[in-house]
Amino acid sequence: MTLPADIADRLSRLALPGLAIIDGRHEEAASGATFHNVSPRDGLVLNQVTACQGEDVARAVASARAAFEDGRWRDQGPRAKKKVLFRLAELMERDAEELALLESLDVGKPISDARNVDVPLAIGTCRWYAEALDKVYGEVGASPVDRLSYAVHEPLGVIGAIVPWNFPLHMAMWKVAPALAMGNSVVLKPAEQSPLTALKLGELALEAGLPPGVLNVTPGLGGVAGEALALSNDVDMIAFTGSGPVGRKLMEYSARSNLKRVSLELGGKSPQIVFADCPDLDAAAQAAAWGVFYNQGEVCTAASRLLVEASIKDAFLEKVVAVAKSMVVGDPLDASTQFGAMVSERQMNTALDYIATADSQGARRVLGGARVRQESGGFYVEPTIFDGLEADHTLAREEVFGPVLGVMSFKSEDEAMRLANDTVYGLAAGLWTSDINRALRGAKRLKAGLVWVNGWDACDITMPFGGFKQSGFGRDRSLHALHKYADLKSVSVTLR
Ligand code: NAP
Repeated sequence: MTLPADIADRLSRLALPGLAIIDGRHEEAASGATFHNVSPRDGLVLNQVTACQGEDVARAVASARAAFEDGRWRDQGPRAKKKVLFRLAELMERDAEELALLESLDVGKPISDARNVDVPLAIGTCRWYAEALDKVYGEVGASPVDRLSYAVHEPLGVIGAIVPWNFPLHMAMWKVAPALAMGNSVVLKPAEQSPLTALKLGELALEAGLPPGVLNVTPGLGGVAGEALALSNDVDMIAFTGSGPVGRKLMEYSARSNLKRVSLELGGKSPQIVFADCPDLDAAAQAAAWGVFYNQGEVCTAASRLLVEASIKDAFLEKVVAVAKSMVVGDPLDASTQFGAMVSERQMNTALDYIATADSQGARRVLGGARVRQESGGFYVEPTIFDGLEADHTLAREEVFGPVLGVMSFKSEDEAMRLANDTVYGLAAGLWTSDINRALRGAKRLKAGLVWVNGWDACDITMPFGGFKQSGFGRDRSLHALHKYADLKSVSVTLR
């Protein structure tokens, strides 16, 4: 594929990180194992990356443990910790273009999204937790006069962070920044499809002055490196974002090892409900289309079920289709591309299988449905919309994690709520209405950790992020995430 000149120039000078970071050093696996890191943009191998095995993960955990126990980071004062995290944010800003390029190459997302969304949000997260780290207060109890009782938040120790490939740097930062801010040490296991920005983050953290061993990065396969981390008796918590099946395994690993804490940010089948009194149908159509097609549909909160009041359904669907048709599908490295490649051949085939199933179950395909840009060698599926989705169709029940929207209609508010909640998931939900009472009723009735009224994904780092039901538990973002990486210790002093 021909590259834009500026990108070609940058690419020719780009060093692709490939070695694990353990105890402050670049490390190969003790066995020498590596894996191919493939770019979904053209299906070609980008580089060889260290495939950490159990013994490498054990070294990283031991390094994190030693760093935690000797207090080289934990015992630094708030000002010192802030300085390092602010410096890390500055270095990420310095290298923002490189980070964006690595992210786009690694996962196939449009370079403009990596530049304007992923990297700035990751930097903002780092800064936010640096600012917040001295705003975590303990409690003083209502003790009798001869006793003083207080509770303090203490860091947990060694955190294993296992993250997915859809927003690799951003998701990593959601875990790493609050965990470090509370004084923990971290072993970060990026997804095998997207190790590059995690490795770069590990390098930048060292450059920023984070002591060796406090942030280790151990790329490798989930069933090997991830499993070893989650089964370790010396890891105090696994902070996970990923799929339900792996989330279940992590709880088993915890039970089989040291009962480490587990936080799970899992998948979703999020409904977006449009009532006939929607205040702005054009804005809702934009949100309906981008809510599911942003990042090629590889978003945990993707608005993959669109519920539209029957009286406006056909007219509204026309608007959504028009927005989807206008999306520029192309080479992720082209700045004008809005919709890039899916992360892997496997993920592409999964999406195509869901499309075939929806066809066979009788949903009506009104847009897309095919692999495109095959000549590039990359993994592209066009935005796809099905109308006439029934509650028992596979597409209404299972997460695709790809660019496939299913549309249903409803006749009453009760029916909309029932359909919306008819899922094992509970990550996000949205509704569009001009009726404040209906909006507030809906916000109460929707069983989801995130509810958006007259907008989609309209929130930020200040608000907790996470799911109800099988979308997991534990919250990323906000001050709640700091508490997640700490334990409460109650101290009572008897005054004599
Ligand atoms: P995944 O297959 O569960 O993988 C997530 C991470 O777990 C990867 O690092 C993976 O490593 C690792 N892993 C796999 N098997 C493991 C094992 N046996 N032990 C320990 N770790 C293991 O999920 P994914 O396909 O990367 O991501 C898609 C899923 O994540 C979707 O369900 C999506 O909804 C969810 N997600 C949720 C959120 C949220 O905040 N709620 C955000 C983004 C994504 P490998 O890559 O090497 O397999």
